[in-house]
Amino acid sequence: MLPRVDSLSMTLDVLPTTTRVRRAPEAGQDEVTLDGRPAEGEALRRVVAFLDLVRERAGLADRAVVDTANTVATGAGLASSASGFAALAVAAAAAYGLDLDATALSRLARRGSGSASRSIFGGFAVWHAGLHSGAAAEADLSSYAEPVPVGDLDPALVVAVVDAGPKAVSSRAAMRRTVDTSPLYEPWAVSSGDDLVDMRAALLAGDIEAVGEIAERNALGMHATMLAARPAVRYLAPATLTVLDSVLGLRRDGVPAYATMDAGPNVKVLCRSADAERVAKTLRVAVPDGTVLVARPGPGDRLLHGDVR
Ligand code: ADP
Repeated sequence: MLPRVDSLSMTLDVLPTTTRVRRAPEAGQDEVTLDGRPAEGEALRRVVAFLDLVRERAGLADRAVVDTANTVATGAGLASSASGFAALAVAAAAAYGLDLDATALSRLARRGSGSASRSIFGGFAVWHAGLHSGAAAEADLSSYAEPVPVGDLDPALVVAVVDAGPKAVSSRAAMRRTVDTSPLYEPWAVSSGDDLVDMRAALLAGDIEAVGEIAERNALGMHATMLAARPAVRYLAPATLTVLDSVLGLRRDGVPAYATMDAGPNVKVLCRSADAERVAKTLRVAVPDGTVLVARPGPGDRLLHGDVR
């Protein structure tokens, strides 16, 4: 899981994942419950492959019983995979007795879902793409996330969930198709590198307007890149565009608000903490059938011992 470009995220104070991993020497296979139902197909395969990696490192063959619950919609472009595999990395490492520091946990989480490497950390984190040439072990060591220094910034992220259903095309499939077929992919990758340099400076300066502008242009560019894939990957829904229009309206009214979107139809609006309620109110009017919630930067992973029910 080595990305083409470095990337940045903000870990939120809402919508956590809680994951319990118990070693089960008596079991013949891993048993995985995701959101209260037995995991199957690709979701099960990904967790088992991740556990295999942990078992290999720990030198233990024990199967495991995994119970994981997201509080965010799964597979809807709201980063459940980032949250889920960060939690699984922490819980599985503990269950199998791996003593890993935050950097090593970030690297491990990356193997489950690339974006999970960042979700180990609270607040803003950058994921280094790392080295792509040379030995696999060297490449693995070079690609991990770490916290990003931030100046005087008091941001909020207003999340507009316009469709909580699972996306038709998974992020992974969308990414592969885009890389393989989109003529816009290469320029987007190059401009993303520039965006990240600008973003680090904007975060350090505590300049919310610049942070928002960069996030918005990068996200819209990513969707344009996917739209140009063959066949097109289109996550933008009519309600997505309605939210984007509202964000423009807020800016026209003097409220610094900027949209960003992952691979999915749902929109996150970055603004000043002090403006968050106004932004949320505007979005609730714009998409009355959606769900709007206000988030702020939150903590990273936390290991809970014992019975956490
Ligand atoms: P999202 O935008 O929600 O991250 P993705 O398509 O990128 O959507 O990833 C969704 C997939 O991530 C799920 O189908 C499942 O395979 C995996 N996933 C999500 N949450 C968890 C979890 N808590 N534990 C293990 N795997 C998870």
